[in-house]
Amino acid sequence: MSHFSYQNGVLHAERTPLSRIAEEFGTPAYVYSKAALLDNLAAYSDACQGRNALVCYAMKANSNLAILDLLARQGAGFDIVSGGELLRVIAAGGDPNKVIFSGVGKTEDEMRLALDKGILCFNVESIPELHRLNDVAGSLGKRAPVSLRVNPNVDAKTHPYIATGLKANKFGVAFDDALETYRTAASLPHLDVVGIDCHIGSQLLDDAPLLEALDKLIELIDTLDSEGIHIHHLDIGGGLGVDYGVAGDKPPVPVGDYLGRLFARIDAWRAARHDGRAVKVIFEPGRSIVASTGVLLTKVEFLKPGAEKNFAIIDAAMNDMMRPTLYGAWMDMQPVVPRESEKAVYDIVGPVCESGDWLARERELALQPGDLLAMMSAGAYGMTMASNYNTRGRAVELMVDGEQVHVIRQRENPADLFALETMLK
Ligand SMILES: *Cc1c(COP(=O)(O)O)cnc(C)c1O
Repeated sequence: MSHFSYQNGVLHAERTPLSRIAEEFGTPAYVYSKAALLDNLAAYSDACQGRNALVCYAMKANSNLAILDLLARQGAGFDIVSGGELLRVIAAGGDPNKVIFSGVGKTEDEMRLALDKGILCFNVESIPELHRLNDVAGSLGKRAPVSLRVNPNVDAKTHPYIATGLKANKFGVAFDDALETYRTAASLPHLDVVGIDCHIGSQLLDDAPLLEALDKLIELIDTLDSEGIHIHHLDIGGGLGVDYGVAGDKPPVPVGDYLGRLFARIDAWRAARHDGRAVKVIFEPGRSIVASTGVLLTKVEFLKPGAEKNFAIIDAAMNDMMRPTLYGAWMDMQPVVPRESEKAVYDIVGPVCESGDWLARERELALQPGDLLAMMSAGAYGMTMASNYNTRGRAVELMVDGEQVHVIRQRENPADLFALETMLK
């Protein structure tokens, strides 16, 4: 069930009209539904019931403290990609012992911070990173828990910018080098080899590539076992897609179906070949937890009819939502109060001085200046990718809970944007 729906001709978030929110808090605004967030996490937790499994929300999709807090309270862990994200988890009351640290370029400072806080695992992506982590752990008199991000070389069939599991990507250790890399890891005195992980891409509408990756990891775990390197957890990454409403796209596979198939394979493997030792399963979903949780609420400033194109100029821009210009992503735009009048075809663009500043193209809508639009499924990779380009303060973030609206991040004030700058004396 969607928590964004029309009631009496007005688009609502839960039981709150978006028109009322715009009046009270202004636009552009990110508006999230608390119920949607909890439902999306529950789809994972329900499918993991009674299993040795952990959902580590990939917080780069949306790292607002209120969102982290709600997820942490439901028992979620976190997948982080920087020291800053770890500090966010801690500020939100999350448990560092449920944190896994991904990313190709961890600094010594970030490693020290993560070791100091006692994270669950470092997902290591290269041999130089293993050596650096070993040195940092040694200097602190600690042992670092590690997993290797293996690149299973499966084609995730998604946008090249969000496909990460192919040989040509910067991510992970090549499948053919994995055994050798594990041997190196096992030989280093300040590392504990505990896991194996992968993440093959994002916005996958089908789970076949994920299950193919799972088979490759299972194969490797068996090989490692025979070498005396025992893997305690298997982390399959994130990547499950969401329904952005793109014409011609098939709907994404439901979370429960994917997890059902995945656990069935794991059960079959353990029954057939394994020695009964438990292998914990870790998931790193980002988009599928938060995308459908939020909309970007924006107002039409001007209509600009043209010989070739009509433009609707809105108060949100590429700095608020990068996905269209960065990936050519198609995002659904819905009028908050649909009009009966005749429709026209618009390119919906922002005020930023770039031709790439568009949010939606060729949309048939009946619009007037002052109308409100909602960009749907904007809860993932929206606010976290926002910038201050053109000295635009980032949008306010709001969380709706029934009829209540909570400000979870204030609108940025332009003066704050240059507060850290200094002129020469
Ligand atoms: C971004 C990322 C994820 C989350 O991907 P989604 O497609 O948002 O689910 C998970 N793991 C790693 C390592 C990532 O970089």
